[in-house]
Amino acid sequence: MAKIQAIRGMNDILPEQTPVWQFVEATVRRVLAQYGYQEIRMPIVEQTDLFKRSIGEVTDIVEKEMYTFEDRNGDSLTLRPEGTAGCVRAAEEHGLLFNQTRRLWYTGPMFRHERPQKGRYRQFHQIGVECFGMSGPDVDAELLVLTARLWKALGLEGHTRLEINSIGTSESRRVYRSALVDYLSQFKSDLDADSQRRLESNPLRILDSKDASTRRILENAPCLDDYLDEESREHFDRLKALLDAAGVSYSVNPALVRGLDYYGKTVFEWITDSLGAQGTVCAGGRYDGLVEQLGGKPTFAVGFAMGLERLILLLETLELVPDYVNNNADIYVTAMGEGALAPAMQLAEKLRAALPDRVVVSHCGGGSFKSQMKKADRSGASYAVILGENEVANGTVGLKPLRADEPQIEVAQDELADTLSAALAS
Ligand code: ATP
Ligand code: MG
Repeated sequence: MAKIQAIRGMNDILPEQTPVWQFVEATVRRVLAQYGYQEIRMPIVEQTDLFKRSIGEVTDIVEKEMYTFEDRNGDSLTLRPEGTAGCVRAAEEHGLLFNQTRRLWYTGPMFRHERPQKGRYRQFHQIGVECFGMSGPDVDAELLVLTARLWKALGLEGHTRLEINSIGTSESRRVYRSALVDYLSQFKSDLDADSQRRLESNPLRILDSKDASTRRILENAPCLDDYLDEESREHFDRLKALLDAAGVSYSVNPALVRGLDYYGKTVFEWITDSLGAQGTVCAGGRYDGLVEQLGGKPTFAVGFAMGLERLILLLETLELVPDYVNNNADIYVTAMGEGALAPAMQLAEKLRAALPDRVVVSHCGGGSFKSQMKKADRSGASYAVILGENEVANGTVGLKPLRADEPQIEVAQDELADTLSAALAS
């Protein structure tokens, strides 16, 4: 019988890969906690209408990429393609937004039916961050300062660059939209098919087009920047001043519009030049209209999502995964001979009780001294504890430093935890 395989574009994350995932997740968690962000967990499935009403009917995600199905009751459900809509839905539903500010984050799988390729999958993982109830550019700046700190913590400083833009209020975009339509209509037949259709339904989306002929026409199109309202311009100027003061470098990209309908004013992307076409590792912006659009009270909001696969690919491509991530043992306990098995297990348990922050790996499966020491070395441990039948009889162990050119010493079993605690701390 043919073997059943995983669904195309949906990846298993194997034991060899989980350490780097855990490293990235733990680092993000720590940085977000430093800024006072709280975690929220939402379901993976939502009503299809939630995404249609928030992301927008005429977007790539809703038109082409959603995993939508009827459940057994006949309701239309969708595997979430992103987290913002569900986060707003949950926060509204549980009264988290009324008369208060919130700094939230979440992580988990997202689903989009795209063409799988490097850095683009059908199930992928995001960490999303959303701030509610704060109108000023200071919180926009906080999100960017926070991400800059995160790149540093991951060792990625200097490997990502920040692009920002302001896409104004919906009023200023409306005026700009008609100028854009007037201009593009002259070249309608030279636009790609998607863009021709969007000329009527969602012309701003044409700015996102990757089609070469459309891109050429766009070169002389009116610029959103010239249509920006006073309030958005001031917000953007203040944001730039805050970033300058914080020492976060950026470039203004007037063509940056983002592919979702709910954004207004600030939009941004962190981009790497080391991953080819799939170079955006983090993207977001302000979406002050969304909460109201989904039936809540008008609520200021800004957020971003980063793609974990792309961040991990970047760390691996640049060979920046720290060594300890993959070989994280501190102590490796060997057992030479049948009579040492039970005592070695007891000794390892004693060490785990006395040194709860240390990773103690027991050798299982026997083998020669040489092969056990080889495994000890590969585990990344700083010390091998060597227990043979002689040591069992004497109440001692051999303690061998694996990362320093120092001789093996003999230690009383009762003193082992203290000795190791001191040695590992130094
Ligand atoms: P792209 O332009 O690359 O399609 P997007 O604008 O659709 O990205 P967002 O919806 O803003 O992306 O999602 C935020 C981040 O999530 C992206 O910057 C990227 O890192 C990641 N991401 C989006 N789609 C995928 C995917 N199919 N596979 C892996 N990561 C993804
Ligand atoms: Mg996309």
